[in-house]
This record gives sequence, structure tokens and C-alpha cells, in this order.
Amino acid sequence: MRLLENLYCYIWTGKGNNCNSYLFAHVLRGDRPHVLIDPGHVVNEINERCLDQLLSVMGRDGLKPEDVGLIINTHSHPDHCEANEALIARSRTRPGKPSQALVALHQDEDVYRREMAEIMAKMLGQQVGFEPNFYLKEGDLSLGKENKINLKILHTPGHSPGSVSLYWPDNRVLITGDVLFYGGIGRTDLPGGDSKLLKRSIERLSELDIEYLLPGHCTQFGTMIKGRDNVRQNFASVRLSYFPLL
Ligand SMILES: [Zn+2]
Repeated sequence: MRLLENLYCYIWTGKGNNCNSYLFAHVLRGDRPHVLIDPGHVVNEINERCLDQLLSVMGRDGLKPEDVGLIINTHSHPDHCEANEALIARSRTRPGKPSQALVALHQDEDVYRREMAEIMAKMLGQQVGFEPNFYLKEGDLSLGKENKINLKILHTPGHSPGSVSLYWPDNRVLITGDVLFYGGIGRTDLPGGDSKLLKRSIERLSELDIEYLLPGHCTQFGTMIKGRDNVRQNFASVRLSYFPLL
């Protein structure tokens, strides 16, 4: 679903676990112009074919996996990045084009996922073995040239050490990964979780001017949050319900 001129939202609607994916379309120079945030699972715990579903809904919007030039992972849990490798493989299929989609995540997250590989594989299922091409750093990330999108990368640890949120000031869009949801917060009981850090990260996000809050998962309350007042209310409700527990 197209939310804004260059931004598409693919909200997970299956019964099992998978993340929401977001896509900045037609921004990068060259023949792979799309940037995909969190491609999610290939297949989840109840055998739903998550990647096939994502590619199918992308296809309805005219967006092809071989046109993805960059995959950004908000963090390294398998329900956000298991499909990296499959997508990279798809991006290689264009004849005569040796390049492939690049992958980026925060360096702290890359260190964490390597240290925790065995434990996380047991807890969350299949571990993912992709190699990042570059690291996301706190600060500005400009995508493309003509349809330039200026993002701010915010290092927001707590759910995991190298979790990042992506802020697009021009349209007041915030992609939160598993830091913050509609009426909820990311879990901190997995290895690498830190409730104090999560609280601090959420407080930091609450200072931004946000019109669209796009989280990594749906909750019983809903998915994305539209409207500045609704976003503010969500921060207030999370503070009230969860902060005393952190
Ligand atoms: Zn997660």
C-alpha cells in the first residue's frame, strides 16, 4: 500500500509472527532504485510463506524484488531479516547485471547477532547468515539523488543493542522497528535486551515531530499511527502503562 509519494507500507496480516515491511520506491540511482526496510521471515513458525506474500503485494504495486538496491534492517532478529539472503539472491537474477542488493544495519547489532548466533538460533528459529555491506551510523542518511530522501538514523537500543529507528523529517515519518508499537513496546527479555535503554530510546523518539509512526509489528490496538495527536497519545499511554515496569 502506498502511504506517501515514495513510501509503501506492507503490513503483515498473517496469523503467525512476522514483521511489517516498508519500502522507499524509486529513490536510488541506477537500476536498483528501491530501499526495503525489514524484509521479514521467509517462512514463519506456522509455515506461512511470508516472503512470497510480501513479494506478491509488492508486485501488485509494480515493485519487483530485483529492483531492490538496499535492504535496511532495523535490527537483526530473524522475523526482520531472515529474508535478506533470499532477496539478495532474487536481486542477482537480472541478466548481465553482476551487482546485487546491499544490506545495512547498525554495527552494534552486527556484533550482537554474531555473538548471540547460537542462542538466538535456539530461541527464535533459524539464524540468518547474511553479510552487511555497510553500517548505519547515528546521523543523516541520504538516499538517491533526484528523488532524494533524507533520513535520520537514530540509534535506539533497548530491544536489542543496535536497534535503529528511521526518521524522515520532510514527511514526519518514523519507522520504529521493535522499539515502539501501537499501545506497546518491544520486549527486553531476549538476550541483548535492556529495559532502561529502551525507556531512554522511547523518550528520545517522543521528542520528534511525528505524523506517521510506522512500527515493526501490529498489536491488538492496530498498526501504524497516523496524526500528530494520536502519536502523542500513544507515547503518553506507553509511558503510563509500561514505564513503571521498566
Ligand atoms: Zn525484534
